[in-house]
Amino acid sequence: MNGPSVTAIPLGGLGEFGMNMLALRSGDDMIVIDAGLMFPEQELLGVDIVIPDVTYLKQNKRMLRAIVLTHAHEDHIGAIPYILSDLDVPIYGTQFTLAIVRKKLEEHALLDSARLHEVAAGTTTTIGPFQIEYLHVTHSTIECVALAIRTPVGVIIHTGDYKIDPTPVDGKPFDLHAFARYGQEGVLALFADSTNVERPGFTPSERAVVVRLEELFRAAPEKVVFSCFSSSIHRIQQVIDLARSVGRKVGFVGRSMVDNIEIAHGLGKLRIPDGSVVRPQDIRTFDSKRLVVLASGTQAEPMSALSRIAVDNHRLLSLNANDTVILSARIIPGNEKAIFRMIDHLFRRRVLVYYEGGRSAPIHVSGHASQEEMKILLQLIRPKYFVPLHGEYRQLFQQAALAEQVGAVSGQIFLLETGQPLEFTSDGGAYQREPVPAGRVMVDSGSLEEIEDVVIRDRRHLSEDGVVVPIIAIDKHSGKIEISPEIVTRGFLPSDDGQQILTDAREVILRTIEQSSPEEKMDWSVIKEKIRVDLKRYLNKQTSKRPLILPVILEV
Ligand SMILES: [Zn+2]
Ligand SMILES: [Zn+2]
Repeated sequence: MNGPSVTAIPLGGLGEFGMNMLALRSGDDMIVIDAGLMFPEQELLGVDIVIPDVTYLKQNKRMLRAIVLTHAHEDHIGAIPYILSDLDVPIYGTQFTLAIVRKKLEEHALLDSARLHEVAAGTTTTIGPFQIEYLHVTHSTIECVALAIRTPVGVIIHTGDYKIDPTPVDGKPFDLHAFARYGQEGVLALFADSTNVERPGFTPSERAVVVRLEELFRAAPEKVVFSCFSSSIHRIQQVIDLARSVGRKVGFVGRSMVDNIEIAHGLGKLRIPDGSVVRPQDIRTFDSKRLVVLASGTQAEPMSALSRIAVDNHRLLSLNANDTVILSARIIPGNEKAIFRMIDHLFRRRVLVYYEGGRSAPIHVSGHASQEEMKILLQLIRPKYFVPLHGEYRQLFQQAALAEQVGAVSGQIFLLETGQPLEFTSDGGAYQREPVPAGRVMVDSGSLEEIEDVVIRDRRHLSEDGVVVPIIAIDKHSGKIEISPEIVTRGFLPSDDGQQILTDAREVILRTIEQSSPEEKMDWSVIKEKIRVDLKRYLNKQTSKRPLILPVILEV
């Protein structure tokens, strides 16, 4: 085949939930769309995050021109700090997206060398043979864009994450006109978000939650703790506005919540009226009938603000009977156990708890398109080729079936998985090519070192640093430690001072448990995670080794 061609290479997010990344290559030029992370499943003990394997990008480093970002969610930007030092490539994104990226790079001491290019919806940038127009889409965070990319073989559209929200909180509608314009011109290929393909109908507007939230705010006898994703700037704005209209002030707790609010407010993307904020140190003593606290931690992450509040171990506030807690977020599959355990703690404190699937009327709406919105987009764009993105295989499969049913795809629908390239040729053809290296990389965020594969990681941990298994016997009812903790090790610490370090490690464990509240002690997942983190820090400091730490708790 002569003439130019374009190859799309999915490096993450197809056939798995999270770590979205798609490379587009034409000749000697390549761009990458998004660089997301995935939070590890429970069984990956000791791993903090998971990112895409970028071996293919490293092998083709000299062709790599840019990373282009669709929006500021972790599953689209979270891998950047871990891959940038290897790839050293300019990054394009909207103002808010880049502000969040900047914060991450700062934390990883990578900001000085980073090349960040701000773009805006409605504008176009040219990178090598690619002319990229940013199209505004609605979603659960702000400044999200789809990409319409003119390539040497035709227009390729990548939706990013989207829903079609006709009444967005920030008044910036989904740019249906731009999509229609490209549809009329002719689109070679559409790559589209599949996340909510199992939901019939339309996803409700972000505004749909206001009525119910106002009801709950007005009915709340005491303080309200409202938890949502800290990137849900629309939702946060609604809470700030509602609090004001019902005569309450707002406080913010949790690092990610405070950071994101600061960033959005600093960019003028969040309106916070003067005098409406309670300082953190005043939250505890502020009149609870006039208070709403925004807290991070909807997924019951062990160290998050809400998990700590639920077990009464947060320095800024405590919950009492008749306080209200609203969990305005989806329960992400895999997190059910931890979330329901947290909710149990809240009910034990006689808190009024509202969560998705709990009581009626929406307190949360999704940020992703349902079936009817997907159909509208397919009809508007009428692409020649269609590739479902973002989802596990069943979701990709179902969006392919939906596209088939709509009949708006004139050529072929491709079900690709991570690592499987698709080449578009100059004669209008599309062909699947040999797989490229792709997969998951486990990252221990404390070390910044990447670990190729969980098996290799475990083996290396075991061979170089060994394994440490602290065994703690806790009385289920009293929460007391019955016997001094045992520590079993293999391949760790053969040296003379080893025994002393292990004796001190026992003290570390005892201190961790002592400093936990009675409820934390009854929550094994919390206690295990606290022990793992504290012990990791201690052992690393004493020995510069990072053994695999697997706490075991015995109920006696
Ligand atoms: Zn998103
Ligand atoms: Zn996403």
